[in-house]
Amino acid sequence: MADTRSPIEQRRIVNTAIPGPRSLELNARRLASVAGGVSVQLPAFIERAQGSILLDADGNQLIDLGSGIAVTGVGHSHPKVAEAIAAQAYDFTHTCAMVTPYEEYVAVCEELNKLTPGSFEKHSMLVNSGAEALENAVKIARLATGRQAIVVFENAYHGRTNLTMALTAKNNPYKDHFGPFAPEIYRVAMSYPYRDGLSGDEAAARAISQIEILVGASNVAAVLIEPIQGEGGFIVPAEGFLKQITQWCAANGSLFIADEVQSGFCRTGKWFASEYEDIAPDIITTAKGIAAGMPLAGVTGRAELMDAVHPGGLGGTYGGNPVAAASALASINVMRDENLNAKALVIEEILTTRLAKLGTDLECVGDIRGRGAMIAVELVKPGEGKEPDAALAKAIVAECALEGVVTLSTGTYGNVLRFLPALTIEEDLLNEGFDVVEAAARKLGA
Ligand SMILES: *Cc1c(COP(=O)(O)O)cnc(C)c1O
Repeated sequence: MADTRSPIEQRRIVNTAIPGPRSLELNARRLASVAGGVSVQLPAFIERAQGSILLDADGNQLIDLGSGIAVTGVGHSHPKVAEAIAAQAYDFTHTCAMVTPYEEYVAVCEELNKLTPGSFEKHSMLVNSGAEALENAVKIARLATGRQAIVVFENAYHGRTNLTMALTAKNNPYKDHFGPFAPEIYRVAMSYPYRDGLSGDEAAARAISQIEILVGASNVAAVLIEPIQGEGGFIVPAEGFLKQITQWCAANGSLFIADEVQSGFCRTGKWFASEYEDIAPDIITTAKGIAAGMPLAGVTGRAELMDAVHPGGLGGTYGGNPVAAASALASINVMRDENLNAKALVIEEILTTRLAKLGTDLECVGDIRGRGAMIAVELVKPGEGKEPDAALAKAIVAECALEGVVTLSTGTYGNVLRFLPALTIEEDLLNEGFDVVEAAARKLGA
């Protein structure tokens, strides 16, 4: 089942404009057939991808610094993952785990229980997407505590389904005119060191006071937070903030749920970002990096919470699909065998060093933050005001695309350039990709 074609060389090649003529033809078909609400950042149609290179329909080779939004951490079409997927597809592709079970589902749950922080007994369940994991985490927390209120934070992103739209902070594009939204969701202030200047203790005191005054401690089923906010702009809360919130939860009978959908699976240089703050969430949601792009997500939590739900109360037709589960098991083995936590820290060193150097020359570099291979730069207009510069972020992303480098912007204000390379990226290729980013920033920024 091995791929007999020659491997894609790990180098950038720009043959045509990007998107090129063949991609433009395909894009015309897309516009004529695909719902307009599903937007595309760069309509270069991909035919193959390997490692950190995307090969498009016009023969261009793009350096991928986004990993399909933190998903292909092990690199595109890692041979061990591709072989595991193919082998499982020949064995069987579906039985429905709720009808007749299979070992792969159990093995992924065993890995999740072992790899997530917390030395207590854990149980897991598998679903198809990050949003679905969050939906289930909330269901479990409400049933297990007998309470209804869920506390979320400014800048949060938790998905696009009805419940997760309510959990998500930003109106446009995620929520505008899609209401009414699910009730009993309460939003409080996030620790955002660059913009609020507060210590972890101060920011936690502010959030806790809001919870107690606006919601009431005894109503709170769970406090739900991304340990490093993803779509919100890679906001790393001030040290101690998360710990204080977990302690408040423990003292008040509320659960602490960590959404590690984006930050999990070696992305930050540890298996889970929660480990940096030495916290052990009661429930953790995972997805993105878990299975190299096969649709899989997990909810992992204290066994007694996960088992509080009556039989049949949790599930879904495709949850824990065997092909996706096989991909997860192979991906996790690659993470271990190739020591991707250490690789993430090398990426952090390269990116933060180069961004810091850029920051000494350019006033638009407001804040450099993140951990491991989850690094961002917040772009601002020159002057003291830290005024967000979303147009600059957008222009840099567009300029990089023309030069054959895929980057992503994000953030509550749209002014954050984020880097999510594969953890397996070769250092030379990462540097070449960043050369392009740097040239774009120097050309467009001040
Ligand atoms: C992407 C993301 C989600 C939603 O995941 P989907 O698989 O797109 O539903 C939830 N939480 C976080 C932190 C995310 O980054």
